[in-house]
Amino acid sequence: PAARLDADFYGFQSKLSAQELDSLRRIREFLELEVRPGADLHWEEARSPRHLVPAFAELGLYGPNIPEVRHFENSAVYRGWLALEIARVDPSTATFMGVHSGLAMNALFVGGSDEQRAEWLPAMSRGELLGAFGLTEPNHGSDTSKGLETTATRRTNADGGDEWVLNGAKRWIGNATFADMVVIWARDTADNQVKGFIVRQPAVGFTATKIERKQSLRAVENADIVLEDVVVPESDRLQRIDSFRDLSVILRLTRADVAWQAIGVGVGAYEAALAYAKTRVQFGKPIASFQLVQQKLSDSLADITASIAMCTRVSEMLDEDVQLDHHSAMAKAFVTRRMREVVARCRELLGGNGIQLDHGVARFFADAEALYTFEGTYDMNTLIVGRAITGIQAFV
Ligand code: FAD
Repeated sequence: PAARLDADFYGFQSKLSAQELDSLRRIREFLELEVRPGADLHWEEARSPRHLVPAFAELGLYGPNIPEVRHFENSAVYRGWLALEIARVDPSTATFMGVHSGLAMNALFVGGSDEQRAEWLPAMSRGELLGAFGLTEPNHGSDTSKGLETTATRRTNADGGDEWVLNGAKRWIGNATFADMVVIWARDTADNQVKGFIVRQPAVGFTATKIERKQSLRAVENADIVLEDVVVPESDRLQRIDSFRDLSVILRLTRADVAWQAIGVGVGAYEAALAYAKTRVQFGKPIASFQLVQQKLSDSLADITASIAMCTRVSEMLDEDVQLDHHSAMAKAFVTRRMREVVARCRELLGGNGIQLDHGVARFFADAEALYTFEGTYDMNTLIVGRAITGIQAFV
């Protein structure tokens, strides 16, 4: 019970084991002590707090779904709460985690051979090696499945080795400026299918340039990548990925995580707004005593509560092995939309102070926009659901 959040209004954490609750409690203490105090400054300076990487490993935050490296056996619902707790304090840290532990490690977990998993996953779980995931391109975001332009051409080199040559460009790739490996998704020029490649860093012909002047998730380092004749041995091609369909298994897993993160963004803003409303005095009374203010708080907590209910079920479906693409797509779309309303309401509750970093809401307000867009925009996720409902694909 000590680990419960006030924002868990219906007590959904009662579904967690004592070990899971204890782990969440320790993680929350760490986040409050070590992450929250520096979060606004890192955001303002657009710096990723990389000094925390080893401590996150000790807390078991990297690869908690991966049996060979996780600290203890746990449920998908626990991992959802983990994402929520981190985003509740710092959405940029949650996104760093989503890229390294979610996208890059799961690319290996889902798509790697036994040898590839053994080479990378233990070191990545200890935070000794960091990963990135390069799918989006300058000209293709929502339509990567159809439009991906980066090419991979197989050839035999002078020594008789089997290798690939990658050419193209990527955009928005989180962690790519400092990662030890970047998973690059490229179209095989022979069969036209999308394949995954582990590009070890540094690599000749590979450049990653930090994207400056972002106004959301500023403490996440995103990069524009250029690939010019980058050579990757066949042994570094993800051996269990043969098409975009295989890649979409990874996205289904991480999309549900982003939905949980989005609840955390709403909770972070809600908690700050509640505390503010109790102390801010107008017309001689705390603003929390006004009916319209209470309604905004109530609406926000209801949005958060409905979102937790939905995500809890989607995570249970993963453990029951019945979760499909449209299940996680619906959660990502619904929850990020509710999140956007929650952070806007909370921003409003702070009046002018809502737009300044110092009062605990502005960072969540700005960060919500990136979560609304990545891992499939709101539109694309609703169209995935629409396809499941009608049997008609509307987005091509
Ligand atoms: P577009 O696809 O150009 O979409 C623009 C608008 O058009 C959207 O509103 C969209 O919904 C709408 N639209 C497009 N097609 C349709 C349609 N058929 N019907 C209706 N509406 C449509 N990518 C990675 O590969 N790795 C990362 O680590 C990564 N990290 C990111 C971090 C941040 C902070 C951000 C902002 C993005 C990140 N991305 C990453 C990229 C992200 O996944 C894309 O931004 C996202 O998929 C949308 O693509 P786009 O930005 O090109 O928008």
